[in-house]
Amino acid sequence: MGGPEIDRLIGLLARLPGMGPRSARRAALKMLQQPDARMLPLAAALQDAARAVKPCGSCGNLDSRDPCTICADAQRDRAMICVVEGVGDLWALERAAIYRGLYHVLGGTLSALSGVGPEDLNLPPLLARIAEGGVTEVILALPATVDGATTAHWLTDRLRPLGVSVTKVGQGVPIGGALDVLDDGTLAAALRARRAS
Ligand SMILES: [Zn+2]
Repeated sequence: MGGPEIDRLIGLLARLPGMGPRSARRAALKMLQQPDARMLPLAAALQDAARAVKPCGSCGNLDSRDPCTICADAQRDRAMICVVEGVGDLWALERAAIYRGLYHVLGGTLSALSGVGPEDLNLPPLLARIAEGGVTEVILALPATVDGATTAHWLTDRLRPLGVSVTKVGQGVPIGGALDVLDDGTLAAALRARRAS
C-alpha cells in the first residue's frame, strides 16, 4: 500500500491480542496521520516499558521495581497471599480494590494436555516466602477449569504441610472464566466466599 514500513507496522499491530488486520490498519492509519501526537509518544512508551518492566522476583507481578510496588507496600497484609494464574488476574483484583494482601503469580496452570508440569510454574519464590514465616493464609484464585482445579488440588497438597491455611475463592467464578473478565462485584463475592481448599 505505502511501502514496507507501513506493512510491517500493520503486521506487528495485528498480532496483538484483541487486534486483527482491520483494527491494525485503523490504528496504524490514525498514528501515521498524527505522528507527533500519537506515534512518537507510543514508541517512547513501548521502549521505556520494554526496558524497565520485569517480573517481580518475589511474586511474579510485572513492575519497573523489584520487589514490585505491591510487595514493597507496607500497608498490605503480609499474612495473606493470593495465588493467581497470570498478571491479568492480579490486575483484575487490584482494579476491583477488594483485596489488601499480597499476591503470587503462578505463570500458568498444570496441564497434561499442553505438557505443563510443576517445574514450569513459578513456585519456588512462593515456597520461599512461606518458609520465611508470617504467612497464615494462601488464597487460590485459579481459573475454574479442569487445569485450574488440578493445579489447586496439587498446590493444596503442597502447601498445607507448610502450616498455612489454604482457601479457594468461592462461587461466582464462571467455568473456564479468567478473573480478568469478571466484574468487580462478582470478584468481590468470590473472594468473600472463599472456603477451605
Ligand atoms: Zn511483587
